[in-house]
Parts: sequence; C-alpha cells; structure tokens
Amino acid sequence: MTDFDLHRPLIGQQGSRAALNTPALVIDRDALDRNIAAMAAFAKQNGLALRPHAKTHKSIDIARLQMAAGALGVCCAKLGEAEALAGQGINAMLITSPVVTPQAIARLVALHERIGDLMVVADNPANVAALATATKDASRPLPILVDIDPGIRRTGVSSPEAAVALAQAIAAASSLRFAGVQYYCGAQQHIEKYEERRAAIVDLTTYLTSVIDQLNAADLAPKIISGGGTGTHRIDASLGVFTELQVGSYVFMDRQYGDCDLGGEAAQPFERALFVDAHVISANSQGMATIDAGFKALSTDGGSPNVISGAPENAMFVFMGDEHGALIAMDHAFKIGDAVSLSPPHCDPTVNLYDAYHIVREGTLIDIWPVTARGRSR
Ligand code: PLP
Ligand code: MN
Repeated sequence: MTDFDLHRPLIGQQGSRAALNTPALVIDRDALDRNIAAMAAFAKQNGLALRPHAKTHKSIDIARLQMAAGALGVCCAKLGEAEALAGQGINAMLITSPVVTPQAIARLVALHERIGDLMVVADNPANVAALATATKDASRPLPILVDIDPGIRRTGVSSPEAAVALAQAIAAASSLRFAGVQYYCGAQQHIEKYEERRAAIVDLTTYLTSVIDQLNAADLAPKIISGGGTGTHRIDASLGVFTELQVGSYVFMDRQYGDCDLGGEAAQPFERALFVDAHVISANSQGMATIDAGFKALSTDGGSPNVISGAPENAMFVFMGDEHGALIAMDHAFKIGDAVSLSPPHCDPTVNLYDAYHIVREGTLIDIWPVTARGRSR
C-alpha cells in the first residue's frame, strides 16, 4: 500500500494528522506558503530574479507554487531530477552540476528538445566540446553557464583565465550559447556566526567580480550571474553582483537552518515547514523512549533532529538504528503510542527518503503530494 492509498481516506478529516501512519514526512502548508512568498518578495525588493533550487523538495507541486510566486524557473542538481520535473508547467530549468558522460549528454539533448528553456553548467573544455558535438543537430543552441569554483574544489573552473577560455569555447560553438556564470558558495552557507559568514562572502564576491571583469574585458559579459543559498542570500543581495538567486532550503527551513541567524531579526521571516512525524513504540526505561524513526526516516549527515511537539523540547535524540531513534528526557514519562513531531536536521537528503509529502493545515491532512523526483539522482 502506498502512502496515497493508506492516507487518502484521511484527507480533509479534522485532526487527521494524528492518524497518519509513521514515520511520515509532513508539510505545514501555511508555513510553506509564507516561506515561498517571503523569498519571492525579498528577491523582488532587491531587483533579483529567483530560480529556486528544486533539489530541496523534488516536487512538481512546490515548483509550481514557486513559479506562481514569480520564480523565472527552477534549478535541478541532477539531470534525472530535471527530467522528472520537466513539463507540467515547468519549462525553465538550470542543471547546476556538470553533465559529462555520453549517455547523460544524450538525455540532456533530448530534454533540451522537450522543454523551452534548459540550461546546464560546464567547467571543462572537453565537456564543452562534447556538448557542442551532441547538440550539432539540435533545433536551437543550448545555453551554458560557466561554473566558477569559489574555492571548495567541488565543481567549477579554478581561475579567471579558465573562465574566460571556457566562455570563449562556448561562444565559438554554434550549437551552444554562452549564457553567464554560476557561483555557489556551498561551504559558507552554514558558517555559524552571521558576521563571519558575511566576511567570507564579501571576500569571495571580490573574487567573483574579478572573474566577471575579465569576462567583460574579453567581450563576454555574463548576462546571468546565478548563485546564493539560504544562509547567504541577504549578503549576496546586498553585494549586488548576482542577477538571480538559486536558494533552496528556505522553503522548509530544516533544523540546521532553523537555528541559523540569517542576518538579525528582520531577516528571519522563514519558518520550519517540514517535519517528520513519528510514534513512541517502546518505553520500558525511565526517561527514555524508542520511536519509529531512525536512519531510514531522517538523513544522518546533519546531526540530530529537534523535537517540535509530543515530547519535551529539550529531549535528546539519538539514532538507534535503521528503523529506531531514542528520545531521552530524564523527568519525562514516555508512553507507547505518544505522537512526536521532529524537525529534520537536513531537509534535502531527508526528503529523498520518502515517496510522499503529507500536507497539513492546523492538524488536518489536506493533501498528499508525491516527492516527484525521489531517487532521480542520475
Ligand atoms: N545551488 C547549488 C549549486 C546547491 O548545491 C545548493 C544546495 O546545496 C543550492 C543552490 C541551495 O542552497 P540552500 O539549500 O542553502 O538554499
Ligand atoms: Mn542541503
């Protein structure tokens, strides 16, 4: 039985969130809507376009809400994610990782023919040559962004000279179009102290500006300058270099971001909108309970989840295995069947563990949405 079969009869019944089989991935619909609206308003006020990263939610429903709020398209981390979300109202997509193997490039070209506005990043001349060959019979040029490495050494060209050379190679290929640059400072998003995060981004933006200056000098002014994440979007906007933001996690605000200072009180309009609901299944030790959520219900790369309800807020969570987690609160009398709601440590890999989102409003299940691109990581 899928989540859809299992839970559909609960849709619209008052208080039905409490009747969900667990572990369940839950979205607070009103908080989601407010997060989407807040980032759309922020981008607009700052004269920036918004291309939210769909790697966070992998959901056609959420991508459509982001588009309806003014996004000009979405980002996808992987080609498979883009294939799963393409069409159905989403026709503008940027794939933010290089696509390099012949089999993947063939799919990329097919997707380019299928949707109106597909872009991909590149960071290597051999890859640009392969893309140029693969698109030579395409109906129109494929736009490419040069990915610039901010120093993480994950992807991206590693010098201004390499950026210019790659942009020249793209511009010289008649089946490709040089559309701009991407610059994502992943390692800086979670620098704990806001002022330190700001200082790091100021430095890295000076470097980005030097790359852009060299592109301009080579007559290759980048029309699109795409980047930014939830942790740095205010800083990025204030520095005025990007033309668009590719923020992702703001829609959900996982525990890591929920605890994060985004730039003072005024900068905290984003709320936790994503939860993992669970139940106590064993409670035979004082002050301790075992819940039905472990490694298979919560990603394990970001520490522990927070308790949002159903147990003391300061209860400690410890992973107990594939299917089990422990909650520890010495003075609390846990009982089997207690319903607890958790804020997942890291939203993106947690979402990828589930087939469906359970959409709730004030305790009532109002809808079930598929995690459209779940597992589409190739
Ligand atoms: N852009 C790229 C290339 C990313 O890898 C990510 C997230 O990992 C984002 C944007 C979105 O960042 P965040 O989730 O911090 O908003
Ligand atoms: Mn993430």
